Amino acid sequence: MTHPDGEPWQWPEPTWRKIIGRARAGRSLAPATWPGGARCAVAISFDADHDTIPLRDGDESPMRISQGQYGNRRAMPRIRTLLQREAIPASFFYPAVSALLYPDEVRGVAQDGHEIGIHSWIHEKNTDLPYQAERDLSERAAEVLSRLSGKDPVGMRTASWDFSVNTLQIIREMKLLYDSSLMADDDAYELLADGQPTGIVELPPEWIRDDAVYWNFVRFSGLRPYTPPSAVLEIFKAEFDSAWDERGLFLLTLHPHISGHRSRMPVLERLVEHMKSRGECWFATHADIARWCKQQAGMA
Ligand SMILES: [Zn+2]
Repeated sequence: MTHPDGEPWQWPEPTWRKIIGRARAGRSLAPATWPGGARCAVAISFDADHDTIPLRDGDESPMRISQGQYGNRRAMPRIRTLLQREAIPASFFYPAVSALLYPDEVRGVAQDGHEIGIHSWIHEKNTDLPYQAERDLSERAAEVLSRLSGKDPVGMRTASWDFSVNTLQIIREMKLLYDSSLMADDDAYELLADGQPTGIVELPPEWIRDDAVYWNFVRFSGLRPYTPPSAVLEIFKAEFDSAWDERGLFLLTLHPHISGHRSRMPVLERLVEHMKSRGECWFATHADIARWCKQQAGMA
């Protein structure tokens, strides 16, 4: 689609300035201290997509759908057991369709004390949607999660981190506390819309700290991205060690249907072991970290 101002090389300065200003990193919300004098905040998140990836693609293949169901059947029990044993609170982002497929899982995760956050309706790509559709789906998704978990979600992670030109406005209209989709920093920051502070906290993820990059397999693609678990552990550890050294935030994104396999669960187990051996970590949900950062910045 051609831009009304022509090709990018023809754009006048206000055009590209407007584009970069839609959801821009404002002031850093990296706090001077973490609760209890911890050196590092650890935010572990799971995007519980389960069957919604093939559904989103309109792919009715029972094979691909079964890969998603694995997330519920085998991965989630392993993950919940590990988190419970280690007494680590985490954040679980659910597409509404995934939550509706597995309501008992959502209720159980909420009862375990974890956070439930918004992650689209059916893992749709926001950038394909007009504003009104994105807004309706986001609100319906929040209602489903609220009904199942007994708590209104306060955070959004866009599906595939596909944050559209309208997403920030929708997050503000829904009065959410934070987003976790944009990547302008290692630590929390405040989002600006057209140069104006929004009060919305961004907790930045990164593909580097995402299991899908290393392990997601697409049958008809030539790529075979089966990174050895030991290499993934090495990358995650290096990211954590630097966050610890800088007294910052370590935010990890995992997918049950990808990370919950027999050969891969040990990555999370070893990582937690490593983090606990370094010590002084504050393991917290995204919501608690966003609240802390906001409060420390005098925004609450
Ligand atoms: Zn997802």
